[in-house]
Amino acid sequence: MKIIDGKAVSNLIKDEIKAEVEGIISKGHKPPHLAAILVGEDGASLTYVGSKVRSCKQIGFNSTLVKLSEDIPESELLKKIQELNDNDDIDGFIVQLPLPRHINEEKVLLAIDPNKDVDGFHPTNFGKMALNMKTFIPATPYGIMELLKRYEIDTVGKHTVVIGRSHIVGRPISILMNTKGSPGDSTVTVVHSRTINIEEFTKNADIIISALGIPDFLNANMIKEGVVIIDVGISRVKDDNHPKGYVIKGDVDFESVKSKASYITPVPGGVGPMTIAMLLKNTLQSREFKS
Ligand code: NAP
Repeated sequence: MKIIDGKAVSNLIKDEIKAEVEGIISKGHKPPHLAAILVGEDGASLTYVGSKVRSCKQIGFNSTLVKLSEDIPESELLKKIQELNDNDDIDGFIVQLPLPRHINEEKVLLAIDPNKDVDGFHPTNFGKMALNMKTFIPATPYGIMELLKRYEIDTVGKHTVVIGRSHIVGRPISILMNTKGSPGDSTVTVVHSRTINIEEFTKNADIIISALGIPDFLNANMIKEGVVIIDVGISRVKDDNHPKGYVIKGDVDFESVKSKASYITPVPGGVGPMTIAMLLKNTLQSREFKS
């Protein structure tokens, strides 16, 4: 079994982006500028946004963090988004999810200029992705494709089972895996909470991409020998023996599957670090994608 080292690959990608940024600056252009809107004080969101801002600094991007209070009216948030849309100095921005309950996520998503939507969640970009046109690819699925590519994992003609059908991971990765090309060209089955007998599908999979958020869901009895496993899940599990009071767990029971799988992404250190690297890559590519 080989470990797919997402941390190492993400560092490599960041180094590549940093070199490109140096090239941009040496030609007298300004570096890419990524902005993030954070609403409220959710602990996990603060951590994610903090590490996005740190990564920008690391690779020479400009970054702006817009912090808004938990009770901001939806109209004010939409106004802030319009300001970022209109600000020519900003190449791309994200609105960190989840948002407080009183804010309509769909309205927010639609308010973002697709040319600056580096998360790739706007319907225009999602549609372009589905049509295999050049556009922003949502960062987590983009990161998975990049890991498969860099580890030269053969996906062509393979049976890929995706567990989960969310808009940010399951659905887009299922589209990308069956799009023409390599990585891609897979025969894809998507399973979800209403699927009857998931094992029947996972046992026949050459590649399993799990994005459901249930710790240790996938075990050795559910897979065949030699399967490639991409574990997207990130769950905080209470652990009083740990200084933080919790540990991070993936969807896959690593100890159980490790003797059967050919490749596996660990949690943490697999897909997670790739997500930030690909967000930066999308920001770098934003000038190229402008329509
Ligand atoms: P989500 O929106 O909650 O979607 C979960 C999906 O799993 C849904 O499609 C759901 O089915 C399905 N599901 C739930 N219970 C199931 C079951 N018992 N059997 C089969 N399918 C089941 O979650 P998400 O945003 O896609 O995230 C999934 C996991 O990935 C979470 O742990 C999240 O923290 C993690 N994540 C990691 C990264 C990263 O950078 N590594 C990025 C994003 C998300 P229904 O559609 O039928 O409800």
